[in-house]
Amino acid sequence: MNITEFTIEVKPQLPESIAGLAELAENLLYSWQGSIRELFVVLDRELWISCHHNPTLFLRRIDESRLAAAAEDPEYLEQYKQVMTWFYNYCNSGAKALAESKSPLPQGTMVAYFCAEFGFHESFPIYSGGLGILAGDHCKAASDMGINFIAVGLLYHEGYFTQTIDAEGNQIAQYGYQSFCDSPVKPVFDSAGEPVHISVPIADDQVSLRLCTVSIGRIQLILLDSDVSENRPDNRLITRQLYGGDNKTRLQQEMVLGIGGVRALAALGIVPTVWHINEGHAAFSSVERTRQLLQRNAEAGSKSSDSCLDFDGALEQVASSTLFTTHTPIEAGHDRFDRPVIEHYCSAYLRDLPIDLERSFALGQSGENRQQFNMTALALRGSRFHNAVSRIHGAVASAMEQSMWRQIPAAENPISYITNGVHVRSFMHKKWAALFDIKLPNWRQQQDNSDYWTALNNIDNRTWWNTHCEIKHSLLVEIATRLQRQHQRNGLSQAMIERCTRYISHSNGDLLLIGFARRFASYKRAGLLFLELERLSALVSDTKRPVIFVFAGKAHPDDEPGRALIKQLYERSLEPQFIGRIILLEGYDIALGRALVSGCDIWLNTPEYPLEACGTSGIKAAINGVVNLSILDGWWDEGFTGDNGWGVAPHAPDYDPDYRDRQEAIDILDILQNQAIPAWRQRDNNGYPSRWLALSRASMSSTITRFSAQRMIWDYIKTPYLAAANQGARLASPGTAQNLANWKKRVTEMWPGVRAHCVAQPVPEIHLRDTLSLAVAVNLNGLNPEDILVECLVGDFAQEQFVADSCVRLVHQTGEHFQARFEMDWTPGDCGLKQYRLRVYPYHQLLSHPFELGLMLWL
Ligand SMILES: *Cc1c(COP(=O)(O)O)cnc(C)c1O
Repeated sequence: MNITEFTIEVKPQLPESIAGLAELAENLLYSWQGSIRELFVVLDRELWISCHHNPTLFLRRIDESRLAAAAEDPEYLEQYKQVMTWFYNYCNSGAKALAESKSPLPQGTMVAYFCAEFGFHESFPIYSGGLGILAGDHCKAASDMGINFIAVGLLYHEGYFTQTIDAEGNQIAQYGYQSFCDSPVKPVFDSAGEPVHISVPIADDQVSLRLCTVSIGRIQLILLDSDVSENRPDNRLITRQLYGGDNKTRLQQEMVLGIGGVRALAALGIVPTVWHINEGHAAFSSVERTRQLLQRNAEAGSKSSDSCLDFDGALEQVASSTLFTTHTPIEAGHDRFDRPVIEHYCSAYLRDLPIDLERSFALGQSGENRQQFNMTALALRGSRFHNAVSRIHGAVASAMEQSMWRQIPAAENPISYITNGVHVRSFMHKKWAALFDIKLPNWRQQQDNSDYWTALNNIDNRTWWNTHCEIKHSLLVEIATRLQRQHQRNGLSQAMIERCTRYISHSNGDLLLIGFARRFASYKRAGLLFLELERLSALVSDTKRPVIFVFAGKAHPDDEPGRALIKQLYERSLEPQFIGRIILLEGYDIALGRALVSGCDIWLNTPEYPLEACGTSGIKAAINGVVNLSILDGWWDEGFTGDNGWGVAPHAPDYDPDYRDRQEAIDILDILQNQAIPAWRQRDNNGYPSRWLALSRASMSSTITRFSAQRMIWDYIKTPYLAAANQGARLASPGTAQNLANWKKRVTEMWPGVRAHCVAQPVPEIHLRDTLSLAVAVNLNGLNPEDILVECLVGDFAQEQFVADSCVRLVHQTGEHFQARFEMDWTPGDCGLKQYRLRVYPYHQLLSHPFELGLMLWL
């Protein structure tokens, strides 16, 4: 007998008096405004958890009688009214927020932000890790600041995989299909009520893309989706998985994001003035904007006279309003495509450009590599403002990309840095926020006032300690529940499960919980401490006052070493010496991350220097008063003050890796044994670990303003957004960008023939108060004297490196075209040995950065 089961969903009806709940569920503001989530939670706590904190799904599944009861409950209605008022105020006060933030951006500035992933909340899984969550935080802070901002990304129906770990320690990656009907994603309709589609030529197909939108507070995120019936089955899969498929899928996704993203904004009538390429995945956006600009120009050209814009001029104009942020020094994080792959997928598209394939391909050339197309190189050529995400990463990225500006010392090339921040309201535990609402009523307005946060010292030890312990307790319960579920599913015996959870289930507040959760990429060295097995084992062995390490994280499915690391950790976690003390949790996501960074006592990070671009989980820990113990790399090199945690000085990158790893493992174990564990165990007369409490307070107060997403977005506004808005406007005036492009072309051609020498022999000594006169003769090879600058850098040698402390410009005296003479007088201010260097480089007042041509001649 064949019996079919039919599924029917019976949806509740929302009573009129609380109809606004549907509106709240449609704006991801719920991901950072606790009072919104609370409106759902109080209706049915269990359902909220089983719906994975997803308000849309929650409203479809909730028992209608509960809604009816709430609609009659005066207390609930009061709470509801307050939240709705707050919500409308927030959403409608963009201009006010902007005025309050005193944004220096010119009126009408609109920032478009392109990224391959966005992490806002666990209910909306279109992120994989740090990059996505950072992008989510960037959008949330942009919304809070009230700037005119639009984000563009891809709608992944299977998102990133969910992770389970089986009984052998293998990572099992599962992709589940999401229709997005249970999410705040809405299709975009045109004025005729039809869904808006755009298309992108990929290989021989026109791939159709459906546009969707999501509200993120005051701003919108536009998502592109190739899973539409007009497309061939394989094209429907393009946007299926985040970082899934092979290199070819990746290229197609990047065409959709970059080219499709620009077309989507145009189709919606949105005209950004500043364009932010967040990581190289979106670099095609500059190419598409160049193509559109040329097309507009050609169309207007038939009517006007200013139609001489060529590809270089158009790219110059596009790049002048564009900023590119690079996020990793890991080579594999920079996409490269072989030439045949580019030819196959991009030829049809590139045919529309007025340059040949050779020149198109050169846009992605990096260094001497002529066989591969590098998205980072394309992003750098398509933008005039570039930044890395921490001070150390700034130096590393400058060195990595030095070939883009061949003759410029890496330290002076145009890559700067803005250190990442985290969105405080999303990652600070609600118990801290509730405490501050009582003790520091203004704290929400004071997030950029570092002096204010010394007020944390006024909160007594007991309150501080109790708050931390409550948060930690809920984490311990969560860990035990998750471990039980994980091991039961894998068929471990009850006795074994009991051993795994015995310390965390029966904690008396004495156990020291050390957390480590992040992607299992090799450079993060999750297994570092296991290099010193015996010491580690001795360290965790005290059964009365156990030290417990909790690990969580995903390895990319293709990352064999990463998966091996998970297996190794899993096996260790079941060894007799470590069982119950080394814990590996499956299913790392933003929700588990949030719980771990707020409830551990110490947050451990062991990256291989200098490969941790920033490392935001440590910031999340610090703003929850969790104390960092980390290699001084990424943000921690800037955030460590000496009294807010422990910093481990890394070995230089040229050490033998095995030696370095071992030494750094020893360094960390030394700190644990001699400082961290004693700081935790030493209790004062009231039973509080006063040293740890001091570190905890210092962690929070030293981090909350300096590493918030608010500070980060403010830095973006003040520097690259403002510069790109101004530079974009300058180069948009007719003929300007083309003039600059022509000038660059001429200078680049002539430069190899430019020569310079000192007119007189260098003087070996002078007296204090005497003046040194220098003259440089430059053979201009046909350039004009005003096309160049001649500079003298004065400085000292420190650690075998020349460090300039001043720079004097030489003044043009005589001569034109063939040979020009530049002179300066310099009077030293103090005695001693001085060094000076002389250099010549091209100059044009329209340049975005003095060295953007990469040309420089040293005498
Ligand atoms: C913060 C966060 C990350 C990034 O952590 P790093 O320290 O930068 O590695 C990754 N995944 C999740 C879920 C996070 O919340």
